[in-house]
Amino acid sequence: MNHQYDCLVIGAGLAGSVAARELAERGGKRVLVLERRNHVGGNAYDCFDEAGVLIHQYGPHIFHTNSTRVFDYLSRFTRWRPYEHQVVANLPDGDGRLEYPVPFNLVSLEAAFGPDKAKALEEKLIAAYGSEKKVTILELRQSPDPEIAALAEYVYDHVFVRYTMKQWGQKPEEIDPNTTARVPVFLSRDCRYFQDPYQGMPAKGYTPIFQRLLDHPNITVELGQDAAARLTLGDQLLLDGEPFAGEVIYTGAADELFGCRFGRLPYRTLDFRFETYDRDFYQSHGTVNYTMDEDFTRITEFKRLTGQELPGKTTIMKEFSRAYTGTAGEVPYYAIINDANNALYGQYAALAERYPSLHLLGRLAEYKYYNMDAIVGRALALTDKLLGG
Ligand code: FAD
Ligand code: UDP
Repeated sequence: MNHQYDCLVIGAGLAGSVAARELAERGGKRVLVLERRNHVGGNAYDCFDEAGVLIHQYGPHIFHTNSTRVFDYLSRFTRWRPYEHQVVANLPDGDGRLEYPVPFNLVSLEAAFGPDKAKALEEKLIAAYGSEKKVTILELRQSPDPEIAALAEYVYDHVFVRYTMKQWGQKPEEIDPNTTARVPVFLSRDCRYFQDPYQGMPAKGYTPIFQRLLDHPNITVELGQDAAARLTLGDQLLLDGEPFAGEVIYTGAADELFGCRFGRLPYRTLDFRFETYDRDFYQSHGTVNYTMDEDFTRITEFKRLTGQELPGKTTIMKEFSRAYTGTAGEVPYYAIINDANNALYGQYAALAERYPSLHLLGRLAEYKYYNMDAIVGRALALTDKLLGG
């Protein structure tokens, strides 16, 4: 082998950075990381804006996991600020507006219907499903009980259908059921968005985690480097025109790896609108979902997530979703998971399998709706396998 590296990692997001670290540290491999952007961190990248507010450039990221291995692993690279995310739906109500917790729960029920009706509905719901249980909106809509079915229609109408149309351009029943199942109706007074035992925000932000992960003598990171210009997948796998015999971990989009030859994998992209205000805070919660009106899906206020103390300034982000076209500058944020798209992905995955040293890893490369913790878990599992245990 003519190369000075043992392994190649494409993409310095969470998948690539954890994999590179493991190969370098545990495996003693010399690892080259190529990253197309001019920074590490992938979509979890954060930075300070002109007002001095720590923002998440590619959408709000809240860490949560039930995996002790994942939490312990990341805790080598950061301290945590205790933070448990809470979200409210903001919707029109007569002449004013109403806010209640999302996932829709027993507190939301009371805010929507008043104490008496809420109490009767709560008893029915708990008799049908059990206390502290999570019920997906699609499941709730199947209820044979007319009062529960009417409640399901209320929640579908006030929380799900318009938000989902904005986010996916499709109705809840038309998208992958696992997507709406992420935000079930929760028969509880627990107003947290996640119930995972480990939750928090990295004390100094996400980007320093990536800098520490990649700060290893065996790792070389090259920014502004698109794999398309360096990697060739022909009869053999070539790096810079020379055969490369080491392991290659690819964390970009699977279709792009093969010139989109079977057609583009469908994604939703987002436009983010950042706004800075000369005040301490803008809204009551880290994230407010606009479930019935407005063109954006949600507003996130970063200081509420990060706990940053910066009097007199705050920055918020509005998210607008639309179809991804592959135009330069667009980012494929959400895979649109359905049978046809999975089959198209399968064609690319089959091509990749022709190269035994090539491994597809991460939210893009695996065409899945993975949270950060799942990505860390998958990177550790793959490197366990490659390093033999
Ligand atoms: P990415 O972060 O996308 O990294 C891939 C990297 O590869 C990128 O840096 C990209 O530039 C690079 N790359 C791609 N192609 C090439 C190429 N050809 N050559 C070189 N480099 C290339 N998860 C949570 O746990 N909590 C949250 O609150 C949360 N919020 C989210 C909000 C939004 C809007 C989105 C879109 C995702 C959110 N996630 C959240 C999911 C989280 O972003 C992902 O799980 C995680 O970032 C995936 O890491 P990755 O390395 O697989 O992909
Ligand atoms: N969802 C909704 N209304 C809400 C919150 C979520 O309809 O107020 C649906 C919507 O389809 C969304 C999905 O549930 O895409 C998953 O929501 P989540 O907050 O997990 O999405 P993410 O943070 O990954 O964008």
